[in-house]
Amino acid sequence: MKISVSVTFLGTGGSVPNKFRNLPSVLVRRGPELLLFDCGEGTQRQFLQARAGINRKMRIFISHLHGDHVFGLPGMLHSLSFMGRSRELEIIGPRGIIELVTSVNRVVKLYNRFPIRIREVKPGQSIKDDEYNIRVAAAQQGIPCLAYAFEEKPRPGRFDAAKARRLKIPEGPLWKELQSGKPVKVGKRRVIPGLILGPPRRGVKITYAVDTRPCPSVIRLATGSDLLIHDSCFAESAATKAREYGHSTAAEAAGVAKRSRSRTLALFHISAMYEDASPLLAQARKIFHHSILPRDMDTVSVVP
Ligand SMILES: [Zn+2]
Repeated sequence: MKISVSVTFLGTGGSVPNKFRNLPSVLVRRGPELLLFDCGEGTQRQFLQARAGINRKMRIFISHLHGDHVFGLPGMLHSLSFMGRSRELEIIGPRGIIELVTSVNRVVKLYNRFPIRIREVKPGQSIKDDEYNIRVAAAQQGIPCLAYAFEEKPRPGRFDAAKARRLKIPEGPLWKELQSGKPVKVGKRRVIPGLILGPPRRGVKITYAVDTRPCPSVIRLATGSDLLIHDSCFAESAATKAREYGHSTAAEAAGVAKRSRSRTLALFHISAMYEDASPLLAQARKIFHHSILPRDMDTVSVVP
């Protein structure tokens, strides 16, 4: 079965919003599953607009505990309950994320009708699922900040239907088994998937690194990404500011994309001081041609 992966940029600004950009949040859809990276204030409205579905398998990854990345979380949990979510939701983030959610809940009493599991993770850990992993690395900020890489496991190779027919394997459940990489029995014959399937195909890789200086741990994490979403807060003229506040310029983000041999770079977490951020894109493209500057609610599909 072909599972598609897409990314919707719910909010592409940083620190404070402006007329054009909401606070940071990125929605990755993999088939029916949702992975949300950061949850700036106002994310819930963008999430609804994206028609993401309220009761799907879902995980929220928080990079760090600065307000622009987490103030949307209580509202999101509250509203998901109101809208009828019943399925467990998992929240993953750095140390302090448990305290954040529980203390809001203690004081404000979230209307909460679905189970929430919160996990604190550290650089070097990974969150494992059947068909993908999410690796965690350290970003370089003034406070602990995590970068995440979503990596699909290799997908089974292409199924050669003509060959399956030649080998007289009846269409139906046996084809499905072979497609998922399992051997089958046809009468007395044993057929191994290698006969019918092409070589395994690599899966999709998406890296999310915000509020970070360009740094080796992010470059290592991002190696070979199909899409690198990287902090690009400032233009070159504000390079000192970027250094001072633990952010990157668009050109520095492009350097990370180049060194990590990523295929596409999305400039993200754009400072509210840029109403027109096209100079940032031009500066990035001088270093890394495959740079894009997503606007809020833009969706891109990611293929391996
Ligand atoms: Zn930020």
